[in-house]
Amino acid sequence: MADQLIRSDPEKLIRQTMARFVDQEVAPMARELDEAGEFPRELFAKLAAMNAFRIRYLGQKGGATGNTTFYCIMCEELSRGLVSLAAETAKQCLMGTNFLYRFGSEELKEKYLEPSMRGEMVGSFCLTEPEAGGDLGSVTTTAVAQGDEWLINGMKTWITNAPMASYFTVLAQTQPGAGLKGLNFFFVPTDTPGVRVSPRFETLGTRTTEISEVAFADCRIPRHHLLGLPGKGMGAFFAIIAEIRVMTAALALGLARAAYEASFQYARERKAFGKTINKYQLIQAKIAEMATDIWASELMIYDTSRKIDQGQRVDQASMMAKFFATEVACRCVDEATRILGAYAYSMEYPVQRFFRDARFLLYGGGTHEILRTNIARLAGF
Ligand SMILES: Cc1cc2nc3c(=O)[nH]c(=O)nc-3n(C[C@H](O)[C@H](O)[C@H](O)COP(=O)(O)OP(=O)(O)OC[C@H]3O[C@@H](n4cnc5c(N)ncnc54)[C@H](O)[C@@H]3O)c2cc1C
Repeated sequence: MADQLIRSDPEKLIRQTMARFVDQEVAPMARELDEAGEFPRELFAKLAAMNAFRIRYLGQKGGATGNTTFYCIMCEELSRGLVSLAAETAKQCLMGTNFLYRFGSEELKEKYLEPSMRGEMVGSFCLTEPEAGGDLGSVTTTAVAQGDEWLINGMKTWITNAPMASYFTVLAQTQPGAGLKGLNFFFVPTDTPGVRVSPRFETLGTRTTEISEVAFADCRIPRHHLLGLPGKGMGAFFAIIAEIRVMTAALALGLARAAYEASFQYARERKAFGKTINKYQLIQAKIAEMATDIWASELMIYDTSRKIDQGQRVDQASMMAKFFATEVACRCVDEATRILGAYAYSMEYPVQRFFRDARFLLYGGGTHEILRTNIARLAGF
């Protein structure tokens, strides 16, 4: 199924290259990495050497020529091997570096963007606060202009890759009381006095991904570390939110395929009542439903990614793709835990990891309560 929507030669090459990398280098290590729960530095470095972090950036120095469809193919394949590696990579390609790429001064780009593309630095993205998740208008981190500097104060939480980050793109309020209109993004290097990164959180899934709180106490950054035009922070964010959603959908698709492949294989080998369980219609129904759901996810994701590449607006389509593909991933891992019977419950088989990792997909790019509300609103309801 996976190749039917992949059209051009570069798309095929990315699929093949990533599939080979996943089969040879990621899947065999996935259990060990998940159990160790450490950031997979070696694989991250290998991805950098493959130019993976440049995949969305057109004409980056010495890099690939990218687009969203390439990016989604890569995310899908990596997620098939290990969701957390895919999520770390996805973040480095998009949220971690995007504002620096679009709005950073040449000096900042030279110092931070190029090393990030080479995998020598990691960028993190700080929206969420202890009292502000989906409701970004409630962000209370402040940025106050003082002479040639900004003074940043506040607390961010659930920040992916924060423990190894060299810098943060931080959403902060410049006009308290102005809600979304007063929000802007700021570039804050980790070594700025006043930045404090907490010990990593213990999490249910995606265990190689290190997540922390980040506190900013009287952090002083130069005025040119404002990323974008004053008062236009959310506009700049909305310019990439569709891509964040379709990327998350691609991560979900990769995981759904992994669950499907594990179920398919197991059902052909496992015997019960004198025959392999793939001969039972109820098991066939599960496989048929998984395959159908996966195909529908693929159609939604790659139709939406191609529209993004053509410069079309895909607000509603990207919400639908993220919502649908993530629900599909959750359904597929659930069915896999049934098809594998007790072995799905064993830490020796990967299905338990798929089951835990699927929950990660529910939050980023919009919770499904908020997405459904917005899909209905855009439908005119
Ligand atoms: C593994 C992981 C990694 C993350 N990485 C990052 C990161 O790198 N950077 C970052 O900034 N954040 C990160 N986050 C945070 C993530 O973006 C938030 O979890 C998400 O925005 C939701 O916020 P919340 O969890 O505070 O839930 P809340 O917004 O508090 O919502 C709680 C519940 O209320 C529901 N709800 C809220 N508002 C409405 C409404 N209007 N209508 C109906 N229901 C509603 C939600 O759907 C949810 O069910 C990460 C989270 C996780 C789990």
